[in-house]
Amino acid sequence: MIIAIDGPAASGKSTTARLVAKKLNITYLDTGAMYRALTFQLLKSNVDFDNLDKVSTILGNLTIDMYDHKGTNIIKLNNEDITEQIRSSNVTKNVSEVSALLIVRKSMVVMQREIGYKSDCVVEGRDIGTIVFPNADFKFFMTADIKMRANRRLNEMNQSATVKTFDEIVLDLEIRDDKDTNRENSPLRKAVDAVEIDTSELTIDEQVNKIINHIKNN
Ligand code: C5P
Repeated sequence: MIIAIDGPAASGKSTTARLVAKKLNITYLDTGAMYRALTFQLLKSNVDFDNLDKVSTILGNLTIDMYDHKGTNIIKLNNEDITEQIRSSNVTKNVSEVSALLIVRKSMVVMQREIGYKSDCVVEGRDIGTIVFPNADFKFFMTADIKMRANRRLNEMNQSATVKTFDEIVLDLEIRDDKDTNRENSPLRKAVDAVEIDTSELTIDEQVNKIINHIKNN
């Protein structure tokens, strides 16, 4: 069984997808973390994103492991724990440019399908219901008011060392959504058969229950 959850940045996808997977006792796949891991590696290796030969070499040597540890989705790249680094503002600022590259998308989709075909999965991202798993058993598209999304990010940031104002966060989210929505390859889109959930006024529990109830009743 594949449950696809797509939507813009900070719409509540990750937490909800992780908890839905936990409730159903199936795998959780955060595809955004995969694009972030690659972006982290390209930045670390000082690779110019236009240098497709080098991007391709790094892609070919990429081993990403993801697993849950006490409610945190741990991301390892070539055995190095990069869970925190991939959320840095530098990675976040650059990830949309990397994920717009066709060679990157082709390779990520192959990896994501391999994982999805091996076991039942909740897969979360931008193109899961449209491109990666167009025949997913269930598709959801999560949205939320930009101010709500920025507030959630602000709260997350207050727990870390990063300091940004509310307006800066709004701008960051708008720029990233614009890049993800208007790129040529696999843009962020709601699949025609996806159930849309506006999370602006919903708690995490309510978001999770909406999805679980829909799955149980269909
Ligand atoms: O979900 P998250 O915000 O961590 O995703 C980071 C970035 O990865 C997105 O802004 C987007 O550029 C890219 N992404 C993508 N396709 C996916 C998942 C994420 O292009 N399926």
